[in-house]
Amino acid sequence: MTTPEKVIREDVRSIAAYHVPGAEGMVKLDAMENPYGLPDELRREIAALAACAPINRYPDPGALALKARLRSAMQIPEGFDILLGNGSDEIIQIVVLASARAGAVIMAPEPTFVVYRMAAGAANVRFVGVPLEADFALDPERFLAAMTEHKPSVVFLAYPNNPSGNLFPEEAVVRILAAAPGLVVIDEAYHAFAGRTFMGLLERWPNLLVMRTVSKLGLAGLRLGYAVARPGWMREFEKLRLPYNIGVLTQRLGERLLAHHGVLEAQAAAIRTERAHLASRLARVAGVTPFPSDANFILLRVPDARRVFEGLKRRNVLVKNLHGSHALLENCLRVTVGTAQENLQFIAALEAALAENRANRVVLGADRCHLPPCANHK
Ligand SMILES: *Cc1c(COP(=O)(O)O)cnc(C)c1O
Repeated sequence: MTTPEKVIREDVRSIAAYHVPGAEGMVKLDAMENPYGLPDELRREIAALAACAPINRYPDPGALALKARLRSAMQIPEGFDILLGNGSDEIIQIVVLASARAGAVIMAPEPTFVVYRMAAGAANVRFVGVPLEADFALDPERFLAAMTEHKPSVVFLAYPNNPSGNLFPEEAVVRILAAAPGLVVIDEAYHAFAGRTFMGLLERWPNLLVMRTVSKLGLAGLRLGYAVARPGWMREFEKLRLPYNIGVLTQRLGERLLAHHGVLEAQAAAIRTERAHLASRLARVAGVTPFPSDANFILLRVPDARRVFEGLKRRNVLVKNLHGSHALLENCLRVTVGTAQENLQFIAALEAALAENRANRVVLGADRCHLPPCANHK
């Protein structure tokens, strides 16, 4: 009998499946989603578009209308091509697959977005993670030395970084661009919350690819990522893009929604304001260390991440527990910035969970002590 063991690659069978927990009825602060819905007017507009979309036909394989809209909405400079992906996850996969020559290395600072490593594994390419500092700063000397040693075909830099939330200094990134022997992908998934971009440096650096997504901006369900680089790179990547990777609905709705880009930008501005509130609230919670963020989430260190995570869950708040995923993320949780109401609920649940843990520790400590007090000893 044919079994998966005879067919499926060893390395694939040994991968632990990427787990996304259910979130029914929870305050969902685990996935960097925009918490706001679309205004009614806009919902009506895309409803009409969806009703008339020719879903019996294959989509435009070049997605020309959507690309034109992206170019104007996102100020993509002339002379550079756009590659579209089913989320930027798919673009990562395409870039890694295309560069997966024998002996190739993919490199990124770590901890970072896990899909870089996953995509390398899927393509059977060696991935080298270069540890960040304890405060998640990037040490350019250390990264440059690792590049000299491993000669990576592709370097991924999340800007801002996920899960730490910080922007690496521009000078450090430029030094990496200047020294890299291959392609450097600047992943600007959180661009809307950072207000910084490398788009303007495409002209200067021929080995630069700027990648973004509309997911964190408020359209995670559409699945649309885009990358911008010189045509020479894009011609190659286009060969590995499956012909109809961007569906009719994503193309049409995406084009319309980006025509109203200001609505999403305003929501991103509201999220930035909420981020500041949430950060200052977190800084005042005893025992909690929040890290500075230029994204729509905040990384925080707590006394016992697993128990705080469970305590939050029991109070109907879902965040991401990062403890155990990387040595630098010991006892770290990541919380997405939600609405003002959601953030209040989160803070209240966090304080309650921490208080509960403190109380339990006192009780457990007392229970465990079976020895008589020292004064009774002879
Ligand atoms: C969320 C995220 C992505 C993936 O976004 P999709 O377009 O939804 O696939 C890419 N890079 C980083 C750093 C992210 O955090």
